[in-house]
Amino acid sequence: METAIKATSEIVGDYSRLFVNRGAYILQSSRPHPESGRHYYFRPKAKGTGEELSLTAATIRRHLEGELTIGLYAINASTQRSKWVAIDADYGGAMEDLLKLQYSLREDKVEAALEMSKRGGHLWLFMERPVLARECRIYIYNLALRLGVRIRGAGLAEGIEIFPKHDELRKGEFGNAIRGPLGIHRGANRRYWFYGADYDLEKQIGFLNQVQKLDEDQLRSFIAGKTMPPEFDRKRPSADEAVPCVHSSGREFRILEHVDKVRKVGRNYVTRCPSCADAGQDRSGDNMAISIDDPRKYICWAGCTKEMIRRAVGCPIPVRRSA
Ligand SMILES: [Zn+2]
Repeated sequence: METAIKATSEIVGDYSRLFVNRGAYILQSSRPHPESGRHYYFRPKAKGTGEELSLTAATIRRHLEGELTIGLYAINASTQRSKWVAIDADYGGAMEDLLKLQYSLREDKVEAALEMSKRGGHLWLFMERPVLARECRIYIYNLALRLGVRIRGAGLAEGIEIFPKHDELRKGEFGNAIRGPLGIHRGANRRYWFYGADYDLEKQIGFLNQVQKLDEDQLRSFIAGKTMPPEFDRKRPSADEAVPCVHSSGREFRILEHVDKVRKVGRNYVTRCPSCADAGQDRSGDNMAISIDDPRKYICWAGCTKEMIRRAVGCPIPVRRSA
């Protein structure tokens, strides 16, 4: 048990300036799910009104003091910009890849802070002022490819994950969230620190404050003439133009045609929930259960709705139009 950590309003303010892109946030459940034993994230709502809560200084303070654990979104939807890039790696050899990236960023005179995590780490780059998500992504994807660092997705189950995970958000979308640094990881029940400063909130924030921030012109000079590598440039159909998922044979929607790597557990297939995956969640790939007897039936233990799952696989449930 660690001694009580206190977060001053100055620390809370600095934290917000460094990490918070928008008011919406997610919260990690304090109690493990009774069946899976895992701590899922959810969007907190006000009691009574059911309105979605916006992040306050008080909530950030409770996060830093370890009372609750928040997850932060990577993109501000109104500007399509982000204050940071986080590179998440949690596989065998993850740390080596992150150090390789950190070294190479340093050659571009870009400083990156390395945060420890359960199985690897998160490498954070901070921006002088928020930059377009698309532009940070072009930079990091190209850098990783040049270094031969594997990127998860495009057929690879293991590799780094780069936040922001979207070039742009559409109306009403939130994109991906990542566990807010310096809080307590509920699953591991411990705090993870940044390398480079003492394990103390004030020293850590002081360290992050002085990490050199990347400026937009500098970023643009790095990506001049570059685009997203085509294998990662997946264009998502917009809700309006989405092709309804009716197969030529006229069959109904089958979730099994839209998930990969299922395994059999009891009477179910188990796999990574596509909607959770879109939010950077369900790393262990077991949130979704699909009935083996009747594969039309499926559920996400983290509580994603059918609408969310169908949208995530690019087959939104058709909206019935009045005649
Ligand atoms: Zn889910």
